[in-house]
Order: sequence, then C-alpha cells, then structure tokens
Amino acid sequence: MAATLNGMTLPSWASHVEDKLAPMPLLLVQAFVDTLDQDLGTDIFAQPDQARAWLAEAGLRIPDPDRPDPGFTDDLRLAREARESIRALIGRTTGSEPLTADDLAPLEQVLDQDQLRLDVAVDGQVRLRPALPARTLADGLLALLLIIRDAQADGSWDRLKLCGNPDCRWAFYDRSHSRRGAWCDMATCGNRLKNRNLRARRAQAG
Ligand SMILES: [Zn+2]
Repeated sequence: MAATLNGMTLPSWASHVEDKLAPMPLLLVQAFVDTLDQDLGTDIFAQPDQARAWLAEAGLRIPDPDRPDPGFTDDLRLAREARESIRALIGRTTGSEPLTADDLAPLEQVLDQDQLRLDVAVDGQVRLRPALPARTLADGLLALLLIIRDAQADGSWDRLKLCGNPDCRWAFYDRSHSRRGAWCDMATCGNRLKNRNLRARRAQAG
C-alpha cells in the first residue's frame, strides 16, 4: 500500500522518507536531502541509473528526450554536493555554526546559471519562477531554493531539522507543539545517543 501524507498518496520520490514528513512543497527539499541515509549506509545517488530516475520523478532534472544528454556525470556530482549544502542550510535551523564558503559553493554554482524570471500570475501575485521543465539539475535546484525561500518566509522552514545524532543527520519535519523535536526517531537515534552519553558519564565516573 502506498504511504500517505494527510490522507494524500505520497509521491513516489518521497517514499523513502516514511515518517515526520514536511508539507508540500517543502517535502521535496526533505526528500532530496534524505536520498542519503547515513545510518543505513544507503544512497539513492550512488547508482547513476537510480539517481537519474529519481531526479526525473522528482521533476528536478528532466532532460530533453530529443537531445543527447552528456551532462549527467557532472549533474550527479552537483546533486551529491548540493545535497550536503542544503543539509548544512537545514542544520542552521537548530543554531549550529555559520555556513562556510565550502558549504555554499555548490549552490553558488547553481546561482551562477540563474534562469529565474519574474511572473505576474492571474491572481495578481508577483512570483519568481525557475525555468520549467528543469532540463538541467541547476534548473531543478533553483526551484528547490525557491521552495526554501518561501518556507523561510512562511515559517515552516524552522520545523525542518537535522537529527541530533551526528551519525544520522536525517532531515525530519518537527510537528511537535513545543518545536523541540531533536531526533528523526526517539526509539532509535534518541535512545542510542542517550545510552552513549550515559556510558560516557559512567566511564568518566568509573
Ligand atoms: Zn536519526
């Protein structure tokens, strides 16, 4: 059975997230970052075919079918690097160190190929729009950055966090009333860290 998000069928590109899902369209940012599962050691971008299929399903990279597509190797590298940039961006939510030039470099590369345009919609709203469909990954990543900008404006960005387990760093959406959620999953990462800290304290005491 397909997983659901508030009763809606979950898009195929988000099926690996499973739990603590961000609302649409921020879910796309979460699903992109969580293509790497450091805890399980799995990476959707480790296999070129799987990466190509996932990026196309997510609408982040839909090459023109009538043209050759020589740029995929570079785009795959950019996907992995930009994923860590965006992970660092999410990490800022919980107040870690300021972002470094290295953190931001892959996104600068995307911004250099700026394809944004202003649009006045029929509802009178002025919007920034990336090139659609996203022929290159840079186009798709620009769309992701716009989703991040909108989430920062409406406050939902602050609920997108990284798991506090340094071996995990999974992106999760904190729906708790207190907004103090710190773990992708209390039963695994939360308790694991607590037990580790407890062992360290006991070792010190002993
Ligand atoms: Zn975790």
